[in-house]
Amino acid sequence: MLLLLHILNFVGINYALNGERSIENTSFPIATNGQPFPWNKLRLPGWILPVHYDLLIHPNLTSLIFMGSVKIEVTVVHETSTIVLHSKHLEITSAAIEEENGKTQAALKQTKVLEYPPHEQIAFLYAEPLLVDKKYFLSINYIANLSDGFYGFYKSTYKTKDGQTRLLASTHFEPTSARMAFPCFDEPSFKANYTIKIRRDGQHSALSNMPKVKTLKLDNNLFEDHFAESVKMSTYLVAFIVSDFQSVSRTTSSGIKVSVYVTPEKLNQAHYALEAAIKILEFYEQYFGIYYPLPKQDLVAVPDFQSGAMENWGLTTYRETSLLYDPETSSASDKLWVTMVIGHELAHQWFGNLVTMEWWNDIWLNEGFARYMEFISVDATYPELQVNDYLLGTCFAAMGRDSMNSSRPISSKAENPTQIKEMFDTVSYDKGACILHMLRNFLTEEVFQNGIIHYLKKHSYSNAKNNDLWTSLANTCSEEDFTSGKFCYSKSQVAKNAHIYYVDERFDIAEIMNTWTLQKGIPLIIVEQNQKRIKIRQERFLKGIFPHDPQWASMQIGFLWHVPLTYITSHSKTIGRHLLKNHSDTIELEEDVNWVKFNVDMNGYYIVHYEGNGWDTIIKLLNQNHTLFSYKDRANLIHNAFQLVSAGRLSLDRALDLTQYLQHESSNIVLLQGLGYLAGIYRMMERRNISDVTESLKRYILQHFKLVIDRQTWSDEGSISDRMLRSALLELACDLQYPPCVQKANELFSKWMESGGNLTNVPSDVLETVYSVGSKTADGWNFLLERYKVSMSSAEQGKICSALASCKDGAKLTRLLELAMEGHIIKTQDLSSVIYSVSTNPAGQHLAWKFVKKNWSKLLEKFPLGSFSIRTIIIGATAQFSSKQELEEVKLFFESVKEEVSQLRAPQIAVENIEKNIKWLERNLVTLTKWILENLK
Ligand SMILES: [Zn+2]
Repeated sequence: MLLLLHILNFVGINYALNGERSIENTSFPIATNGQPFPWNKLRLPGWILPVHYDLLIHPNLTSLIFMGSVKIEVTVVHETSTIVLHSKHLEITSAAIEEENGKTQAALKQTKVLEYPPHEQIAFLYAEPLLVDKKYFLSINYIANLSDGFYGFYKSTYKTKDGQTRLLASTHFEPTSARMAFPCFDEPSFKANYTIKIRRDGQHSALSNMPKVKTLKLDNNLFEDHFAESVKMSTYLVAFIVSDFQSVSRTTSSGIKVSVYVTPEKLNQAHYALEAAIKILEFYEQYFGIYYPLPKQDLVAVPDFQSGAMENWGLTTYRETSLLYDPETSSASDKLWVTMVIGHELAHQWFGNLVTMEWWNDIWLNEGFARYMEFISVDATYPELQVNDYLLGTCFAAMGRDSMNSSRPISSKAENPTQIKEMFDTVSYDKGACILHMLRNFLTEEVFQNGIIHYLKKHSYSNAKNNDLWTSLANTCSEEDFTSGKFCYSKSQVAKNAHIYYVDERFDIAEIMNTWTLQKGIPLIIVEQNQKRIKIRQERFLKGIFPHDPQWASMQIGFLWHVPLTYITSHSKTIGRHLLKNHSDTIELEEDVNWVKFNVDMNGYYIVHYEGNGWDTIIKLLNQNHTLFSYKDRANLIHNAFQLVSAGRLSLDRALDLTQYLQHESSNIVLLQGLGYLAGIYRMMERRNISDVTESLKRYILQHFKLVIDRQTWSDEGSISDRMLRSALLELACDLQYPPCVQKANELFSKWMESGGNLTNVPSDVLETVYSVGSKTADGWNFLLERYKVSMSSAEQGKICSALASCKDGAKLTRLLELAMEGHIIKTQDLSSVIYSVSTNPAGQHLAWKFVKKNWSKLLEKFPLGSFSIRTIIIGATAQFSSKQELEEVKLFFESVKEEVSQLRAPQIAVENIEKNIKWLERNLVTLTKWILENLK
């Protein structure tokens, strides 16, 4: 009774303290022992703050159990006798509290522990209240199994060349899994320092965020590694690994020791990552004007890894394909990928680690920035990779998702672990990066860089919200201001920054950016140009929902963006600028012009429709002299035209007319993009078995692009962009059964097979195409699978997997899905991509979907709801469908598992995708058929 009274009291205090954590009902959940659990929220109370964790972990790689002991120093904000913290799947064997009383510590007081698993929380109840401003030490001993999946402290395995299986244990905590490795205050704003000790046996070594300071030798061939005390950081960034990995190391110009750790037999694939990490780390120190604060940075390729990589401070972890570069089997695009992933994780050492979002609703402050910094850092350190070309693709991806009604605002509510996991999506990453790109263009590079330096310095070792970023960007100041310890704030700075838009008028960055982060969707700018007068208006852009549809009008209500428009005209290449803040507006030019093109170089996050004869003029111009527009503008025009077709604004034949100039296109990136639309339509026809259109479209593509396809060599020569064009074009040509392509690929495959898999004759850029063509025979498929088993290159294994998934034999595709499900030969980490690959294959689309339905509960055992893998499976396995019957089937299935998926966004996205495909076909099939026939030679 007393206990309960105490509890109610605390709730009252908390209410006064922090309104948003107020209590909605006063009933308390029941703990596992039948007593009331003293807290009923998902988020922890704020009355106890962790200061320091002393953590000892001892994994046993034979019994797959680990023992842990943690001593957490806490301070008390409000008097309480309850401490609530997170713990998941940990068996607590003892717990006690110590009080620091002057210099002497009082004796340990045993405490009572309650557990409430649905919230992944435990509570400690003390007989006496803990007093404000006193230090307490919470000691907990516990035991747990090494986790089976990819979260918490989990086991991973790899095979040596001679077939031996070796074990290791590694951590992945983001977003809410630190609690699976040690009891902790597992929310990003509870930052603390960590002193970590790891026990291990003689064959293994241990790594953690900080460098090792000493090793003690214990009995029984046991060693205890002690790591230096960490900087102040969030729980999700803590990491440790026990393995037999080996490393290569070098030191940066500022003295940071950088090491790349891999399984011993892959050490020769670690050198490129080491070089890239050194260059990029040195770049960031310069760009952010803040030294990397730890003495070392380890990059570790973990053989089982669910996402791409993880930015644990000082101990970044990667999927093997995201870190290892094998000159024999890694293609140009693999190299670009590795470089960008390293650029991403190292950016997080500042964005995310040094300054962390206050809560997961603003995860874009971590991920949008890290994605954007990939481009800035790789462009500066590896200009030959021409990374900025791929920012276009990032924004196309973001717009694809954001033009659906099921999209969400960048900042969205996320409370439970499933919702939080689902925040790690293209909206946080790609849209985040694209709106930052727009903002950088709006503010100028100098102001943008100074603003983020200000943001990072002001919020170091602490947390931030959206508004903190806008404030910093509006108030950039010089280095001296920082070093003097003051943060400048000047309104005049804002006006100075705004010179490029309005000379006199002030604008409010937060007001502008809130329209991009707090509301979902993307604006459509409708332009009507008449001599020197340009009328503009904005709407919400919606794919698959047309203006004459009944729901269209209601979906427009309340949407308004502040759009920093840019344009060029037939008379001036000087960029015109206009900040559109209303639904409509007029721009008066100084003289009459023939044409106008908005969204210069696609630096803005909006789609443009040219009304009247606007598109006719553009199509004519492209056909006459496409170099009138920059290559990014050309890519932007092609993209906009096809988006407008999906939105019912432009007829398909106009978009197709626009692509006709592509046979003269000299930019690889634009060519690939335009071809991508044609290939996408071709695949849709093929999957729907619309054989006459499929055939004529195939002929059209091969006729129209014959010259450029024939120009491709089967080599690894040329710039990265030439090499990526080659990979993509040859893959498409062989997929379209272009005889010279298939013949050459078969020839290379036979040679490769005859030589027992000797790669010297197959250039890495065409490896995937050669494997795909080879997989079409039973012998080829089986040989590839055997090769998969023994390959020591995960880059090669990825290519083999795609090739195996492209064969036309249903039985083989089923076998492949089963192998990925078993997780022995093909690792579980690759299961979602295998399902996706099979579903993109016309021969496998229904097979993959049936497989997902049949194995649904098994899939949920392997991957948590909301995880990237589950979303890839849900969205990937259904994205190809375009018939009403398929739509009904998919809806029926989601209905049957409603209880599990109700809190996910992914099923909505899947359904909307299919609806959009159905509508596209209904509207465009006749036009398409007619256009192709008219344009075939
Ligand atoms: Zn990230």
